[in-house]
Amino acid sequence: MTNSQKCAPSDHTTTVAQLKEAVDKFRTARDWKQFHKPKDLGVALVTEVGELLEHFRYKTDNEITTYMCDPKNKREVEHELADVINLSLLLATELDIDVSKAFFDKLDESAKKYPVHLAKGKASKYTEFKDVV
Ligand SMILES: [Mg+2]
Repeated sequence: MTNSQKCAPSDHTTTVAQLKEAVDKFRTARDWKQFHKPKDLGVALVTEVGELLEHFRYKTDNEITTYMCDPKNKREVEHELADVINLSLLLATELDIDVSKAFFDKLDESAKKYPVHLAKGKASKYTEFKDVV
């Protein structure tokens, strides 16, 4: 990672590989790999998803919009989302999954299941589309 990226990391300048490397460096320094078996990472991931969703519990969409306007709340949500991403990357590393390949493979698969002409504006599951296998 270059100095300019350290000063202002963003999605436009940081690769998935750099994120994986950063989180692996963080855990290696703490000797935490021994605790990061896939099951434990999965449990931790679900726990962090719960912490993320706790911010939205019992709030309407409008209340969430207002909630997110408060910089303190937004920062807390950002941190919970970062925990989710952190654990997802560690799980991918442990399972030797290339995140970008998996992401685009799944997006291609979803595009076949949810063709625009059948799915646009609908929240239906793909199995409800008659002409999709
Ligand atoms: Mg958390």
